[in-house]
Amino acid sequence: MFGNWGKIIRVDMSSKEIKIESWGEDIARKWLGSRGLGIYLMLKEVDPRVEPLSPENKLIIAAGPLTGTSAPTASRYNVITKSPLTGYITYSNSGGYWAAELKKAGYDAVVVEGASEQPMYLYINDDHVELKSASSIWGLKMSETEARIREELKTPDAKVLGIGPAGEKLVRFASIMNDVHRAAGRAGVGAVMGSKKLKAIAVKGTKTIPVADREKFMLVVREKVDKIRKDPVGGGGLPRYGTSVLVNIINENGLYPYKNFQYLQYEHAYEQSGEALAKKYLVRNKPCYACPIACGRVVKLPTVGVSEGPEYESIWAFGSNLGINDLATIVEANHMADEYGFDTISLGGTLATLMELYEKKLVPESDLGDFPPPRFGNTEVLHYYIEKIAERKGIGDKLAEGGYRLAKMYNGEQYFMGVKKLELPAYDPRGAEGHGLGYATNNRGGCHIKNYMISPEILGYPKKMDPHDVSDEKVKMLITFQHITALIDAAGVCLFSTFGLWADDYRDLLNAAMGWNLSTEEYLKIGERIWNAERLFNLKAGLNPLEEDTLPKRFLEEPAPNGPNKGRTVRLREMLPRYYALRGWTPDGRIPESKLRELDLIDFI
Ligand code: SF4
Repeated sequence: MFGNWGKIIRVDMSSKEIKIESWGEDIARKWLGSRGLGIYLMLKEVDPRVEPLSPENKLIIAAGPLTGTSAPTASRYNVITKSPLTGYITYSNSGGYWAAELKKAGYDAVVVEGASEQPMYLYINDDHVELKSASSIWGLKMSETEARIREELKTPDAKVLGIGPAGEKLVRFASIMNDVHRAAGRAGVGAVMGSKKLKAIAVKGTKTIPVADREKFMLVVREKVDKIRKDPVGGGGLPRYGTSVLVNIINENGLYPYKNFQYLQYEHAYEQSGEALAKKYLVRNKPCYACPIACGRVVKLPTVGVSEGPEYESIWAFGSNLGINDLATIVEANHMADEYGFDTISLGGTLATLMELYEKKLVPESDLGDFPPPRFGNTEVLHYYIEKIAERKGIGDKLAEGGYRLAKMYNGEQYFMGVKKLELPAYDPRGAEGHGLGYATNNRGGCHIKNYMISPEILGYPKKMDPHDVSDEKVKMLITFQHITALIDAAGVCLFSTFGLWADDYRDLLNAAMGWNLSTEEYLKIGERIWNAERLFNLKAGLNPLEEDTLPKRFLEEPAPNGPNKGRTVRLREMLPRYYALRGWTPDGRIPESKLRELDLIDFI
């Protein structure tokens, strides 16, 4: 096999047994790798009704066939598991350098099962794989964890992936971090790793990833790198200002949420934009492995020294969403979130839920103890609460359960802005209705990145569409985005490469790397299979589509109060039945046998 090695490391944390298993081209042709391989293994090996934090759940960390090659942005791995936040499948991905190193060590994936009693970490050094005690590093933050492991292994360039104190304490929105600041963030994958008492995976690899025809592959790579460099976003806005180049764009278009989505524009947005960050704190750009875009930010502040980020979503989550307008406080909060190992979107979303519950007088003062009052705009809140959530101290213990469960505890479920218990990112769907349909139907809940309709609705990629068009054409575009994103994730490249590349380009890269001759349609069919397989997992886990493929009432019933989208709601009820029909699903959102047969999924029912 080319691209993939056909090798998986399987680690049983209960028995401490480590096995190297093979997988073949027949599976790759259906699932490609990474996110595809992950859902295939989950459906085959895990009961979808499993308790997410029990030893019976599995944690699959998988790179794709392009990961670690010279393909542009070939830095990604996915973590596939059942989420302790949503109770459904999740597939969180991250860049940096860890996944390329795993591939260079000769493996495509690590499957972690069971649970250890004592903290352990896994060390992979080419053919040598062993579990080591992590007792002395349990409790440490990410930068100390990485430094101590490298020192112990006497391997200063080992790449380290791991969890911080948040994952150890089973915070339901803990992330898995790699290279300290890169996060597989969403839906609590770090808590699953914590439940297995696996602190980290350090890897060192020296092999060359096999591609079918290296000369041809390099020609294709050069052509695609050139396309990205010539793109105004991929080669312009993203390298110049990072992802937070979006702050001003999204705010001007009237969908930048303010105070837990009560409003859709923020008057101080410019002061926390990518432009402001570049002026005040930027030291340099930082690319992930093989990335010609280099959207990553290295920043410097007297309080934290040199750090990385924050991304657009984190600036919003700690800024406008909480009514906080101090960029230094936001950058510091982002640094803390990376060190403790939090998903910044869910952390900010959970705090915003608390602030609105408090504003509506649903949180008794006695529950706060010594904590500063969680008022919108109170900068004191941020750092204090982040620490207490990681320690599960005081009301921090309730917040560690995530925004949905918090809102339920205080009888204010309507103030939780999320879908399927996952907190929403930084786009109010009343300003981009196709994006709203994406939130409602995403298999992992309220997520933007797996169906990024902001591209056509606001940015004009791959073509400009009216954000308030709810026709079949819009619904079809969303379905295409869901499939192409699944394909990109399965291949092991970054979604931001779509600022320059589209379906035919990924076909060219994959065919050249793997020695295949598949058509674009055949690759998109792999994306469709992955999407339906994830849906099947969720249906078997108990998903009730007509109740759960929805949005918070605020977006369906409260007309937008300000900005260019004033008066708008999301016409989800018009779009959803057509989405089901265009997918070939039943009117109640289930997958009929005929579709399962068409996608070769019938054996999984
Ligand atoms: S575009 Fe940004 S996130 Fe994506 S691979 Fe490049 S540096 Fe990493």
